[in-house]
Amino acid sequence: MQKKEILKKYFGYDSFRPLQEEIINDVMEGRDLMVVMPTGGGKSMCFQLPSLLLNGLTLVISPLIALMKDQVDALKQNGIPAGYFNSSQDSADQQNILQELEQGTIKLLYVAPESISLLNNYINEENVSLIAVDEAHCISTWGHDFRPAYTQLSYLKSNFPKTGIIALTATADRATRADIKNQLSIPQAREYVASFDRPNIRLDVRPGNQRMTQIRNFLNHFSKESGIVYCLSRSTCESLAEKLKNYGYAAAAYHAGMDHRFRESVQEKFITDEIKIVCATIAFGMGIDKSNVRFVIHYNMPKNIEGYYQEIGRAGRDGLESRALLFHSYADVIQLRKFAENSGNSEVQLAKLDRMKQFAEALTCRRRMLLNYFNEYLEKDCGNCDVCLNKPDFFDATLIAQKALSAVYRMQEQASLNLLIDVLRGASNATVMESGFMDIKTYGAGKDISWSNWQQYIIQLINQGLLEIAFHDQNKLKLTPQSEQVLFKQQKVMLAVVPTAKDFKNKKSTT
Ligand code: ADP
Ligand code: ZN
Repeated sequence: MQKKEILKKYFGYDSFRPLQEEIINDVMEGRDLMVVMPTGGGKSMCFQLPSLLLNGLTLVISPLIALMKDQVDALKQNGIPAGYFNSSQDSADQQNILQELEQGTIKLLYVAPESISLLNNYINEENVSLIAVDEAHCISTWGHDFRPAYTQLSYLKSNFPKTGIIALTATADRATRADIKNQLSIPQAREYVASFDRPNIRLDVRPGNQRMTQIRNFLNHFSKESGIVYCLSRSTCESLAEKLKNYGYAAAAYHAGMDHRFRESVQEKFITDEIKIVCATIAFGMGIDKSNVRFVIHYNMPKNIEGYYQEIGRAGRDGLESRALLFHSYADVIQLRKFAENSGNSEVQLAKLDRMKQFAEALTCRRRMLLNYFNEYLEKDCGNCDVCLNKPDFFDATLIAQKALSAVYRMQEQASLNLLIDVLRGASNATVMESGFMDIKTYGAGKDISWSNWQQYIIQLINQGLLEIAFHDQNKLKLTPQSEQVLFKQQKVMLAVVPTAKDFKNKKSTT
């Protein structure tokens, strides 16, 4: 059977999503691959479909034990001989799977990384045709969800040197991708990075004052349509849902503290349009397939851009015009900072929170900044975000950009954003003294610009792809391939004028 026929027969689809076909062709040739695709982009198809065409078994290594049963049940329903093997099963179930492996009756086996060694006597290069490493960012301490069990996966290539390995994830910047390839011993793996852009979602960010009034104005555009309001706390979910109900909306709360059955019924009613607005914590939305969600509101700021992107991505799956509205407030930042400080990986979490805050305060096209976070660069402003629709004034900032970039260059990319600004402004605090950067040529070259304006300018340079923050290297600022154009080729740089407090008062709302 051909690929297209299998796509139709087993999965019921008529055409491939972007990149799927190219990836599947490479998989069929036994190549090693590194695939980055946004959530919902259709990563699973890239190994599920080949599993039906290849002679032997496809091993899928996944840390998501809780989802395995559902995934496998869904595959079986489509007539695909699949199974899973993990520590949540009793030994009888495990024995059954081992028997099936011996008989060669399953094509696709999901296995948790810590359980693979138990399969040693049953899998070998003869019967395994393909290995998929799902959620591959978990292998890298630079990713956002490191799992120690994943670090042992380098033996896959040594045990199965001729078998193709496909690593898949929804989040991995350039450095993390290199790390993943390294750790899986597939340095030559071809990379596929799908676009993260969702151009039909209009992005809006507003200060979080009088949020209820703002939300009611916003909802005037959506009297009959479905949407999600994400809140940080369970109590906010409940009080907000209550208020919206009082205003006549079919709203309900959803959070992990609610009774399981009740929660399921909210989800069910949301899908069937009986409930229009769900006020939820981030527990809501995982695995929900609803294509006509018209808006996503963040009542509170999410803790990082990955989360924000994933949550707004639940809007507009049908491709129709949709909206994302984010409120940001200082109180939220303080709250989130506390959570981050108490988390296991606080340095990375705080850096990610900083980036989220910068997104909310940015004066450049939101979409450019969002995509830039995922290492994707838009050529032009998007025209479909609050910044684009209410353009700030721009000025020729080539000299400013040159000063900043050349300072980064002279500090050999070893400075954080704060240190860079201190050096540009010629500060003589302890950090600067210790760093030894008082001697570089650009020390004090930006005295005439205030600290907060420098911060805004540098963030804009980051958003334009002229600088990069290395999360995995203590948040130091790094040059990018585009930096050279400015440093050595006199490329002009335009930056947005930073508004003063007075300008903010006069700025009209775009509701
Ligand atoms: P990911 O793992 O990238 O988050 P999934 O593999 O779960 O995404 O796919 C998301 C959804 O898209 C699933 O419902 C899947 O069946 C569907 N899908 C995958 N490929 C196609 C396709 N070619 N056409 C239509 N729908 C697809
Ligand atoms: Zn824009």
